[in-house]
Amino acid sequence: MDPITAVLQGVLDEIRQDDRGATASYIPELAAADPDRLAFGVVGPRGRVLSVGDDHAEFTIQSISKPFVLAHVLAERGLSDVLDRVGAEPSGEPFNAISLEEGSGRPANPMVNAGAIATTGMVAGSDVEDRTSRIVETLSAFAGRRLLVDEDVYRSESSTGDRNRALAHLMRSYGIIDAPVDLAVETYFRQCSILVTVRDLAIMASTLAFGGVNPVTDERVVDERVARDVLSIMSSCGMYDFSGEWMLRVGLPAKSGVSGGVLAVAPSQFGVAAFSPRLDEHGNSVRGQAIVEALSDRMGMHLLEPHESISQPVVDVVESPDGRVIRLSGELGYAAAERVLAALRDLAAVTPSDAVILVDGRELARAHPVAMVALRGELEALHSAVRFVE
Ligand code: GLU
Repeated sequence: MDPITAVLQGVLDEIRQDDRGATASYIPELAAADPDRLAFGVVGPRGRVLSVGDDHAEFTIQSISKPFVLAHVLAERGLSDVLDRVGAEPSGEPFNAISLEEGSGRPANPMVNAGAIATTGMVAGSDVEDRTSRIVETLSAFAGRRLLVDEDVYRSESSTGDRNRALAHLMRSYGIIDAPVDLAVETYFRQCSILVTVRDLAIMASTLAFGGVNPVTDERVVDERVARDVLSIMSSCGMYDFSGEWMLRVGLPAKSGVSGGVLAVAPSQFGVAAFSPRLDEHGNSVRGQAIVEALSDRMGMHLLEPHESISQPVVDVVESPDGRVIRLSGELGYAAAERVLAALRDLAAVTPSDAVILVDGRELARAHPVAMVALRGELEALHSAVRFVE
């Protein structure tokens, strides 16, 4: 076992004993799930999938489909079209609450059922099959393999889905949903019934972590901006009415579903997913949350704690026949530019004024406009023979 898999296995073993919570009971097929199943997977920038436990067990994706259908609709229709019909505010209410914005009828966000049904209602396609196949195609691209719908869960969900139908009728009366109610709702039930493993979810999470590019297949699935928008909404609304406390404790955009899956995203670092069917009172997997929380804690992943790499680009000073070359790599933002300038000032002070200093920015992975303006401006002032190659 490689050392990182051993760390994952250690976390899994620690958390295995916790048997609090119960499987979702409102959908008969979900109530029948084996409550002891437990799995956990991580995918990093090079697309290596590490997983432990019941990592090949399939379960239905449920609410974890919501961010990916949102990504599909954002890519097709754009943010402002989507925001016309669905808000971006945490609701603080249970996922299936019958509550819509006063006056407009807009659901609070795309992660509660009402908002997800409205989002699904925006997917193009002539009938349920056509719309479902477009959704399956997008989710499959996120997962890097062809996903399928579990017909038994779909039927179970459709036969008990009156609350979701009621929500859809209400939204159609406000013009939030244009499609016939059955078309929107049956497509939504089918999207929730897509089968995944924890490995699929970890890859899907990693595709969001790396700006919309699946690190396993190298396919660009959505634009960087779409991935960013989806993660923003997951940050505030992804864990039902526990989203605020989740952000406080774990600090990662995440999404959970009632079948016991949970995925979380550490932007630019990795995607993680866990599966354990017993849920707490909010509908979140008890052990799934514990796994992600342990990982975030041990790996220092909380988004809002200091991350030095953002403010410390790599600065290499190389002597060449043409003079000194300063090679920059990594990300150049505001704080990083400040550090580079400080290093350059020190260097300029000990470099004869007729010598050349070459600043080579060609290896920068990302350079933000304001940082570049600041850098260029100050470079000129620093030393008469500083040259900047971009
Ligand atoms: N299919 C479920 C429903 O709409 C999804 C809920 C969930 O995972 O939160 O009731």
